[in-house]
Amino acid sequence: MRQLKQALFVIRTLKQNGFEAYFVGGCVRDYLLRKETNDIDITTNASPSKVMKLFGAKPTGIKYGTVSFTKNDINIEITTYRIDGPYLDNRHPEEVIEAPSVEEDIKRRDFTINGLIMNDSFIVIDHVGGKEDLKFKMIRSIGDPETRFKEDSLRILRAVYFQSKLGFQIERNTREQMSIHRDLLENLPNERILNETLKILKGDFQLRALKTLETSKISSKLPGLEKGIQFINEHMKESVYTDAFFALCFSLNKRVPSEWKFSNVIRNKYETVVDLVNSNQEIDALMLYTYGIEICLLTNKVSFLLGRSPFQKSKIEQMFENLPLKSVVDLKFKAKDLLELTGKKQGAWVSKLLDELVKEVLLEHVNNTHEDLKSYVIKKEGI
Ligand code: ATP
Ligand code: MG
Repeated sequence: MRQLKQALFVIRTLKQNGFEAYFVGGCVRDYLLRKETNDIDITTNASPSKVMKLFGAKPTGIKYGTVSFTKNDINIEITTYRIDGPYLDNRHPEEVIEAPSVEEDIKRRDFTINGLIMNDSFIVIDHVGGKEDLKFKMIRSIGDPETRFKEDSLRILRAVYFQSKLGFQIERNTREQMSIHRDLLENLPNERILNETLKILKGDFQLRALKTLETSKISSKLPGLEKGIQFINEHMKESVYTDAFFALCFSLNKRVPSEWKFSNVIRNKYETVVDLVNSNQEIDALMLYTYGIEICLLTNKVSFLLGRSPFQKSKIEQMFENLPLKSVVDLKFKAKDLLELTGKKQGAWVSKLLDELVKEVLLEHVNNTHEDLKSYVIKKEGI
């Protein structure tokens, strides 16, 4: 509501300039559901250049007639009424044509609950039966679902996302066509699949959405996730946070498929956890030192979810706090001490021996004191 009020001036200004303008999409749906909304979408018959002039908005999706600007932390996107030209690649219209009326603009939108518009007096106008579907908690394609999924297959995952976010049912015909046309997901860039999957995982009704992914066989189109989704559906009563979800799926899959465009940091994290989970090693001081707390907690979480180990979060955290050292710089015997004591030349042996000292300290064979470490080196080097 706050966001809508803050964006009201946009609609009023457009109207004062002789144009039509409405709130549209998620913000109207969320308003009727009395939910917090993300961004504000506005649809208008004013041209993008006119809107840019009026509000100093920037072209953020100009190909599709979208310009936007931020006001008091609220992202306001304004799109000129449009009809999408033919879709030849299941994801992008070949061209977009300005639509003569708001009704035409609404028809190109994905689901009826996203096709509601609202004027500046907060009156909701419904050309697609969205109000009824909101009331009955139903996700239904606008128009023929088969055509709509063939136009843009991302909508298949968007339906699951809205289910995860809102807990709604997906209307039967819509659901059947999602499943029938699941192969079309192969035409989408992996980044878009990842992005939508992340949104699905964050919803309050994640488990319900994961059920849909399995029953509709859409999960078979998500590389490396199918077994994990099946496992969660069979065994879990509560939703799983994103990292644990991916790490669990990939652990069952035994690798992280290259199709997923994770950042290197995230990919490394999942790869390490997959290896550690499958090694079935117990988490000890050495592992904590080597991989850090985050990886070890995630490894434990996944092993626990898989029924292979007890949940040991606080024990692991305590073990980490009590590590006698967290980095080689914490060692009380330094490289220069080694060189001085042995009189030998600098070389690869130095870091090797320091690593050995670290290991001995972590295993509590030697105390991390200068004296004890010195005695260890004297004995070891036969000085
Ligand atoms: P959210 O709460 O996730 O922001 P939203 O409904 O606002 O939900 P957006 O992705 O922000 O979703 O899109 C805004 C609106 O644009 C949607 O409500 C819908 O009307 C339309 N839309 C977005 N993506 C598509 C698509 N792939 N096909 C058809 N219409 C779409
Ligand atoms: Mg939105």
